[in-house]
Parts: sequence; structure tokens; C-alpha cells
Amino acid sequence: MHHKTIVQLSAALAAGECSSEELTRAFLERIERFNPPLNAFITVTAESALAQARAADQRRRRGEAQPLTGVPIAHKDIFCTDGVRTSCGSRMLDPFIAPYDATVVERLAAAGAVMLGKTNLDEFAMGSSNETSFYGPVRNPWDLEAVPGGSSGGSAAAVAARLTPGATGTDTGGSIRQPAALCGITGIKPTYGRVSRWGMIAYASSLDQGGPLARTAADCALLLGAMAGFDPSDSTSVDRPVPDYATLLDRPLAGLKIGLPKEYFGEGLDSAVAQVVEEAIAEYRRLGAETVEVSLPNSALAIPAYYVIAPAECSSNLARFDGVRYGHRCEDPKDLLDLYTRSRAEGFGSEVKRRILVGTFVLSAGYYDAYYLKAQQIRRLISDDFRRAFEQVDVIAGPTSPTVAFNLGEKVDDPITMYLSDIYTIAVNLAGLPGLSMPVGFVGQRPVGLQLIGNYFAEDRLLNVAHRYQQTTDWHERSPAGF
Ligand code: GLN
Repeated sequence: MHHKTIVQLSAALAAGECSSEELTRAFLERIERFNPPLNAFITVTAESALAQARAADQRRRRGEAQPLTGVPIAHKDIFCTDGVRTSCGSRMLDPFIAPYDATVVERLAAAGAVMLGKTNLDEFAMGSSNETSFYGPVRNPWDLEAVPGGSSGGSAAAVAARLTPGATGTDTGGSIRQPAALCGITGIKPTYGRVSRWGMIAYASSLDQGGPLARTAADCALLLGAMAGFDPSDSTSVDRPVPDYATLLDRPLAGLKIGLPKEYFGEGLDSAVAQVVEEAIAEYRRLGAETVEVSLPNSALAIPAYYVIAPAECSSNLARFDGVRYGHRCEDPKDLLDLYTRSRAEGFGSEVKRRILVGTFVLSAGYYDAYYLKAQQIRRLISDDFRRAFEQVDVIAGPTSPTVAFNLGEKVDDPITMYLSDIYTIAVNLAGLPGLSMPVGFVGQRPVGLQLIGNYFAEDRLLNVAHRYQQTTDWHERSPAGF
């Protein structure tokens, strides 16, 4: 059962081949057995999962089932879950029990999905390897010495190891696509504003976007369909109808124009990864697509601009964690300032502190124009690059990440090298565009991801383009040995 995709599980439930309770029990047993070596889950909500599963089975008996009714999923522990710890991978929020559900959590529950638990992540979603979590690193099921990517590494590892058929993630600079790539699964970051950020703990609000991780594009289509849509509680949510992604998957690719940015295939890209990506692009040509070279001339500026804008926004967003209203509070503060400073010093890890410091610096009066304003101008240039490219092509394709999964500990002491893991994903967030990653092969035993970038609100096209590839290839069906 655990090898079935969400689409297959949904069909099995509909055909009465199994109940949601049986399915949920089976995944909970797998989590119990395999989570210790992987550390993909921070919290497992077994009892409430079984209660939700029984309720789903009842709804199905009454003839009220939707496609996701009774399908188990997991949530990245950045989404608030009513009555359940919502830690954001931080000591700061380790004691925090959210008093409400994030819109994404509420919508997936309303669609009938069963929550198995909350997955591990880099602290406050800051990282590319899942090594900054207060709860310890997650391991990659394809190779336990390797990182799963980050920050949605727990979700990606859990899906890859078949501990859950699907999971939620968030992507500020690559955190859905890069771990999907490193763990050999499919994940999509929607257009900014497509999925509500209400109840999703903020890292960099103008970049953060929630989305699904699953084995296939068809599964992502089902999950995204349930997650997306206007939410009056999020002022940046866009009021625009949600297409029925699942019914738009099969459109043929003949005549599709795929742009290959020359900047994504140059220096810095591992040659073995490049070869696997080239093969995937060749498959697209066989499927009837045409490929053309495009240029995104400001690509090299994406990382420097991001590492000004994201820390600036995080320094402001994380100011609320002061030990007063919620989260960690130091012992015996001697006065208010001591309460603030010690609670924050104890509650945050070093990567989060680094970013708060950088963010506070670039926003300070003397440096605002030199750094923050400049970064915003670059952001505009990057959006313009994509706008010009999409005048010529329907989608853009390239590697998701310059290398396959690296080893635990390999980059953790070298932030600049770590930041380069997101060189192909960050510009997409700066422009607010949708991006998808899917598995297209291996280097050794470590998976390689292909990134597909679409125009604004072209999630349906990205899912369609990925799905057609998955119809004629089987990389998405490979599973890590031992799981
Ligand atoms: N790795 C990037 C960072 O550390 C992106 C993280 C994310 O998308 N949440 O900020």
C-alpha cells in the first residue's frame, strides 16, 4: 500500500479495497519503524490521525467522499495546527501549541486529508540542508550520510521514504524544490499569492509560499487544488479561480516551447547533474516540445539580492519572538531587557541569529539605500528578465540544484557555499513565479531534479508538463533501498 501514489490510494479507497483507518495505521507503523533513522517527523499525531481517518471512512460510507478523503498527509511544522505543537524547528517555539489551524491545514482537512504529524525543517525555514533544526538533522533516505535538502527536508524525506504519500512545504528561496530534487520526489512552489500564508509562520513574507510535495505531478495537482485559492485573511492572497489541476494534466506537449537559460548551464553546475538534466530535456524533445536558448542575464545577482531582502524581512518578522507572548522564555529575568535578550539568545540558533543581524544591518538608516533599496532594484531587474523570456517560451527548464545531495556536515560551517545550493531556485521567488521540481535521474544513488518554471499562475501548465514526462519515464517510481 505504501508504494501507491495519492491518486492510486484515492482509487483504492473509492473501490473499498481498504479503509482510511487501515491506511492511516499502516503509515503510522512505517513512521514508528523508519522515523528514528531519518528524523523526518518532529511530532506524530497518531490518535487524532486515527480519529480523522474513522471520520473520513464514515463520510465515504455516506457517499460524501472527495478525492483526498481519507488520504494521509503530513504538514511541515511551520503551519499552525490547532492544539498541536508548532515548533518551526526552533527552540523558541518548542513549547508553542498553536491555537488555530493555518488556512492550508484547514483546507486540506476540509478536503478530507488525514494529518499524520508535523515534519522537521530548518529553523524558521532558514537553510538548505535541514541541519539548522533544533530537533537535529534529517537524513536522506537515498543515502543516510546525505542531507535531504531544506528547508522542507522532513517533508521531502518522509515522502521519499514512503512514510506519507504527500506533505506540505514552504518555499522562500527553494525550500520545496531543492529538497524535492535531493530526495527524488515532485514538489511545486506556486505563484506568490496562490496559496494562503495565513497561519504559516513568516520567514520573508514577500517571498514565502506554501505548496505540496508528493511522488508525482498528478498527486501534487490534487494537493494543490485543495490548498490554493483566495483567503481574505491573507492580504497578499490573489482572488482568482483555482483551475481543476487534476483534469488538465493530459494536454499534449506538441508545440510547447521550452526555454533553456544559458546562465543555468554554465559554471558551478556539476557536470554529472548537467548530463542527467540534458537527458530529461531530450525526452521533452521526443515528446514534441521545442527547446530554445533564453537568457536571464541578472541570474548571478539573485543570491546577493535574496540575502539582503530575506534577512531584512526575517529581522522584522522574528522581532515578535520576545519571550513575552509565546515561545521560549528565559529563567528568572532580572528586568524586561534581560527577558528579551536572554530569551532570544537562548531561543534562536546561530543561522537565525546571523540573518537577524544581517537584516537589521541592511535596514539601518545608514545602509538602507546601499543594500536594501539596491536589492529591491535588482529584484525588479530579475522579474524583467523572466518577463522577457516568457515572451518567447511557455516554460523554462533547467537543473533545480547545482549538485546532488551533499553529505551531512559538509557545508554547515560555510554559509556562502550553502547559500549557493539555491542558485537556480531563488530568482523564481524574487519574481513571484511558480516553479516545480521533479526527479529525472541519478548521480550514483543520489537523485537529480529538473526544475520547470512557469509564467504567473501557470501551475496547471507546469503540472501538465511534468505529468507528461512522468507518463513516459519511471524516475518518480524509484524508491530508496530499505524503505
Ligand atoms: N535555503 C534558502 C534559505 O536558507 C531558502 C529557504 C527557504 O526557501 N525557506 O533562505
